[in-house]
Amino acid sequence: MSDSPAAPAAFGTAVEIASAVKAGERSALGVLEEHLGRIGAHESSVHAFNAVIEDEARSRAMEIDDAIASGAEVGALAGVPVAIKDNMCTRGVPTTCSSRILDGWKPPYDATVVTRLREAGAIVVGKTNLDEFAMGSSTENSAFGPTHNPWDLTRVPGGSSGGSAAAVAAGFSPISLGSDTGGSIRQPASLCGVVGVKPTYGAVSRYGLIAFGSSLDQIGPFTTDVHDAAVIMDTIGGHDPLDSTSATDGHGSLESVLSDGVDGLRVGLITEMTGGAIDGIAPDVLARVRAAAEALAAAGATVGEVSVPSSVYGLSAYYMVAPAEASSNLARFDGVRYGLRVDGSNTAAMHTATRTEGFGDEVKRRIMLGTYALSAGYRDAYYGSAQKVRTLIIEDFDRAYADFDVLLSPASPTTAFEMGAKTADPLAMYLNDVCTIPSNLSGQPAMSVPFGTGDDGLPIGVQVLAPLMGEPVMFRVAAALEAAQRLEDGESR
Ligand code: GLN
Repeated sequence: MSDSPAAPAAFGTAVEIASAVKAGERSALGVLEEHLGRIGAHESSVHAFNAVIEDEARSRAMEIDDAIASGAEVGALAGVPVAIKDNMCTRGVPTTCSSRILDGWKPPYDATVVTRLREAGAIVVGKTNLDEFAMGSSTENSAFGPTHNPWDLTRVPGGSSGGSAAAVAAGFSPISLGSDTGGSIRQPASLCGVVGVKPTYGAVSRYGLIAFGSSLDQIGPFTTDVHDAAVIMDTIGGHDPLDSTSATDGHGSLESVLSDGVDGLRVGLITEMTGGAIDGIAPDVLARVRAAAEALAAAGATVGEVSVPSSVYGLSAYYMVAPAEASSNLARFDGVRYGLRVDGSNTAAMHTATRTEGFGDEVKRRIMLGTYALSAGYRDAYYGSAQKVRTLIIEDFDRAYADFDVLLSPASPTTAFEMGAKTADPLAMYLNDVCTIPSNLSGQPAMSVPFGTGDDGLPIGVQVLAPLMGEPVMFRVAAALEAAQRLEDGESR
């Protein structure tokens, strides 16, 4: 893998870049050119981006440099390049969801997360590839071709935010944003060896995120370390009046808790996901989760096992709830309001022709599944039952959190798999999210922290889960895991 394009934080972390830019030691334009150079050298083999917006990024970088030269205040992310998953609106810049149906559409506004990053001085370098409408676990469902894993170009980067994960792993940008409906930040973070955070439902505004499953979707960061993730969360989080599901009471600063340690914290390994009821979790992944528990115990936490019995039904419930919501959300793509139109002899024929040509197979499969689950006579049996399972999962997690501060599990059942290995078998693909989906159903935060490698030398992420608005304790544990991994790697930083 020595000739792989993986080079996380090739030009420093976001925190390092912003502090050097603010101190006048590096220019925002210089930092941008370094990253554009890497993109130029390796993007053709990785394909992390749907679009790189060099000109806009350069003028923005020059504005930051001018502001610093004139002594003006610049934000916490001054001069930091950021890549944005292409399902978040960027004003005047095509936003495609990696679907043909949005062909030619340019949003008239920025998503709130984009606005907040820009206000903090970050520079958007491009829009990243995803599984069409965020439906998938490998980024192979993109209408624009797959993204490759920078650690091994024959493997998938995970999905659906595979472009954002790969961009950070390849050093194309130190940070990026993804969205997570069933695992789409945490699973690609695990497969690409970067940090990936799914915040509490409502902790980060979704204004300007093109909806997939509205009761599940969250936006979160990919970074190369836990400190950067905390800074991004502090930047993008907090109430937004433009999002009616945005929480009014947040969890407070995360950067300020990073050095608090884990002494006395109670850490629970989820039985079902660590050798219990859920099959298919690879032994090398399990070994790293157990090593993570030992590292936390060595750092002063108490470690135990805890059962979350209904978590085994999470995947089944999700594949009712998420497609049902998707079938409703995607009804707006009708050939009239956005993007592609394929003409027909009357309006109904135009809708059909547009949607037939505009949507790919997986999106059509979800729309059919969701429409069926909501149809008269079946709604209670399918959608209704799934909602009851959801309540059971919430109750089981509540019981677990009565005895534990955080929970641990794998983020992904395996390391990155070969491209094409699961494209013919949707169920095999869906099983990738067996450990991540329960916290989307419960609305609770969870993140993937890189913790060593598997038998194939590829990255493994450990998932840290916490109760609602439990991001502070989750980040303390993540920081401790990162410190333990650095010790193991023999690093001194
Ligand atoms: N892989 C899951 C799906 O295909 C989750 C996707 C996501 O989180 N956006 O639905």
